[in-house]
Amino acid sequence: MCGIIGYIGKNSPKEILLDGLKNLEYRGYDSAGIALRNENDVQVIKSVGKIRALEEKINDMELIKANMGIAHTRWATHGKVTLENAHPQQAGYITVVHNGIIENANELRENLIKNGYSFYSNTDTEVVAVLLNKYYEEDKDILKAISQTLSVLKGSYALGILVKDIDKIYAVRKNSPLIVGIGSDEYFIASDIAAIINYTNKYLLLDEDEICELSFMGVKVFHNGIIVNKEVLTTDLIYEDTSKGKYQHFMLKEIMEEPDVCSKTLDKYLDNDLLIDLSKYEEIHIVACGSAMYAGMVGKSLLEEFASIKVDVECASEYRYKKVFYNKKTLVILISQSGETADTIAAMRKAKENGIDTLGIVNVKTSTIAREALYKLFIEAGPEIAVATTKAYLLQVLVLALLTIKAYNKDVSSLMEEARKLPRLLKEVLEKEDLYKEIARTICSSEDIFFIGRGIDFSISMEGSLKLKEVAYIHSEAYQAGELKHGTISLIEEGMPVFSIITDEDIKDKTLSNVIEVKSRGAKIILITNDDKIEKQDFTVVVPKVNKLFQAILVVPVLQLIAYYTALYRNCEIDKPKNLAKSVTVE
Ligand code: GLU
Repeated sequence: MCGIIGYIGKNSPKEILLDGLKNLEYRGYDSAGIALRNENDVQVIKSVGKIRALEEKINDMELIKANMGIAHTRWATHGKVTLENAHPQQAGYITVVHNGIIENANELRENLIKNGYSFYSNTDTEVVAVLLNKYYEEDKDILKAISQTLSVLKGSYALGILVKDIDKIYAVRKNSPLIVGIGSDEYFIASDIAAIINYTNKYLLLDEDEICELSFMGVKVFHNGIIVNKEVLTTDLIYEDTSKGKYQHFMLKEIMEEPDVCSKTLDKYLDNDLLIDLSKYEEIHIVACGSAMYAGMVGKSLLEEFASIKVDVECASEYRYKKVFYNKKTLVILISQSGETADTIAAMRKAKENGIDTLGIVNVKTSTIAREALYKLFIEAGPEIAVATTKAYLLQVLVLALLTIKAYNKDVSSLMEEARKLPRLLKEVLEKEDLYKEIARTICSSEDIFFIGRGIDFSISMEGSLKLKEVAYIHSEAYQAGELKHGTISLIEEGMPVFSIITDEDIKDKTLSNVIEVKSRGAKIILITNDDKIEKQDFTVVVPKVNKLFQAILVVPVLQLIAYYTALYRNCEIDKPKNLAKSVTVE
């Protein structure tokens, strides 16, 4: 789930591995470790907490003169955050780093214990190390040992493997990302291109069932023991894309990039065919997790209202296990920034197994969903480093709006024109930072906050509420405005902030009545609206009025900035909130 980097080549691996780990820090992690290797030795150094602690430990130690190594940031799934459980994990000849979850680890461990093997950690990863070592000791054939090990593993993994008596690094993956970087006389493995971008922009994608062997001479990829030719790809990512620039946090930088990425995404899609014809379908399932699911909820309202297609929005972790009713005219849309969200991938595969068409809306072009979905629409967000999504969510909503326009049976030229204005209007919205700071200052000591809205405004409320929970650690709930009085209104107390989103002209008065209900019970109202004539509240934020198709795009940045400043005033770790990871590649 977190980070892997490996290096073999002409330079000293220590600096490169540490630098790579730092570029992976944004993904969230709880411990880290590194293994350095030369012909005689493998040296493992691990620490709990920040990479800085690992770096200090390394600098205080006498290191072996190494020419290759692997390193890891761990986001614990099996076993507490301890030194023993941190990676690399070792057994005999083998040293391994692992992202993901081995689902049958307990069963495998019990069998191994019965056969006399012992374990020092609680991790599922150590089971992999022990198995690899057991098979390697049998025949001293590492490719065979890797295949034998993989054949008994269930679950997800990206593995970097060192062998005590082999001058090579091995890498494999299943349901977890791993790429192989190609430099000049140096080669890398990385769970994310950000880890190696300072050294090379050339890489190849490793497919499942392939084993990659990196040596000083180059890279070989095997499939069933036979060498396969892999295409070397080039990324246009540059270092600046992955640095904070003038901003204090990635989250702020990424919110401020919204006009720009919106413009790029519009350029890509407005005048071009989206290559998917929605008129073929009678119903759509939008399946996603977290913010992507809330983007999907906005998409549902748009597609149903403008394109008259029935849409269900489902949370991927439920969808993958429930009974789903498909018909031949069902389309399943998967939304995931990383394209590696484990539950969303499983939902995609379920649809495909049922012969159903799939469309992936993703940011990372090399990701599993990008590769496996039948149709794909890429949002042009560039790298999103802050764990809490901002610009990617916005673009997911934009792409769903564009998809709706293309499926709309009316003259859409005026809508297209309006879409072109969005980057400029977004800038206007972002400029009102002082007002958002004032609101953030007012709410930052609250422990409970409500969001209310109807229709799309409710979907936006869900995202606004999630942002506050994620980055500012404030309990908040989003409610359909009319639903509040069926129970939850009992929680409203004097001074409690209630965000009310009102952008839909048709139901404006209904939501306004709900605002009055909570106000008369003492709530402090923060109204976000596109109606400049509406009665002013404790705080009123007026965003430019645009067609309903695009309105969410101008409201969400307000909520993102308020969440950002609230988190700032509460001294939270904004870019890496506790317990969260950027791409959830485990169930
Ligand atoms: N499941 C492994 C562990 O708990 C790997 C976790 C990760 O992906 O960082 O150690």
